[in-house]
Amino acid sequence: MHDQLHEYVGVIHIHSTYSDGSRPIPEIAHIASEVGLDYLMFTDHNTLQPKRDGMEGWYHGVLIATGYEINDADDLNHYLAFNLDTELPQHLKPSEYVREVNNQGGFGIIAHPDEKRSAMKKYPPYPWTVWDSKDYHGIEIWNQMSEWMEGLTHFNKFYRVMHPRRSIIAPMEETLEKWDQANQNRKVVGIGGVDAHGHIYRLLGLFHITIFRYKVLFQTIRTHILTDTPFAGEGDHEKDLHNLYESLRNCRCFISNHYCGDARGFRFQAENKTQRVEIGSELKFDKYTHIHVNLPQSAVVHLVKDGKSISVQKGESLVFEIEEPGCYRVEAYYFERPWIFSNHIRIL
Ligand SMILES: [Zn+2]
Ligand SMILES: [Zn+2]
Repeated sequence: MHDQLHEYVGVIHIHSTYSDGSRPIPEIAHIASEVGLDYLMFTDHNTLQPKRDGMEGWYHGVLIATGYEINDADDLNHYLAFNLDTELPQHLKPSEYVREVNNQGGFGIIAHPDEKRSAMKKYPPYPWTVWDSKDYHGIEIWNQMSEWMEGLTHFNKFYRVMHPRRSIIAPMEETLEKWDQANQNRKVVGIGGVDAHGHIYRLLGLFHITIFRYKVLFQTIRTHILTDTPFAGEGDHEKDLHNLYESLRNCRCFISNHYCGDARGFRFQAENKTQRVEIGSELKFDKYTHIHVNLPQSAVVHLVKDGKSISVQKGESLVFEIEEPGCYRVEAYYFERPWIFSNHIRIL
């Protein structure tokens, strides 16, 4: 390890029996502890009842955050809102709920922004349509369920049902493009989500109980956060939640597809003549500026500058020379499969 940071791995965007998920929160937390997750971020539709019921906190060594998923009057523009005490009035316009989440000290992420699934008329897509709103904190750049549904056809349905993890390939290009663009003006965190929607269970008829198990979903798209101070653990979950939200707000996180391998230990740092900074930071450009990438196992790494891949290297410990300022991030591929997506480092 090349730093003093603490890494925690979690899953964001989960529905429980408080809305259209199939299991209660404590049971889901137990499943998460069995697969070694450190935190879960719940987003039931239009309700913070789990928070009022005292569901936030530590369960079986897993930190539980309870936010909620907001939608507009047309059931579009889904927004994942955290760190709120009460729900906002229903059916505000998206620009209004994005602003209101901020006003109340919350933290908000645009969910499945470019969703397109079209295989089943009964299950329409729920994209984000109002990009003029500029106050959101983050974008869900990779959504397990959206991607699974998007590739679904009448013919591959059963293959996809039997192999949900193999159907996860990559974030959508147009989402990455919007995210890279937004980051050229301000920090916008990219996170990964799994999004277990209840309608999937009905769609799959006979198979519905066993296919989309939380245990399987928890081994797909994960978001790893890096913190300066460790979680306090049982007893002080408020402080730990604050730590979690601050890491996300500051883009000190990366996304992995766990199906390709455990990404714990991945690091993306930039260094100039006088300092070395972490993922999510800013650094002043000088002639000495370069980027370090460390991986838990050898992979092909693309260096992306302002949305374009400008350099590719393979290995476990890589150095990229930086020739000009820009908004940089990396993508790691394991046997040609997208594995890790970092957040940006801005070189000014
Ligand atoms: Zn949604
Ligand atoms: Zn959802």
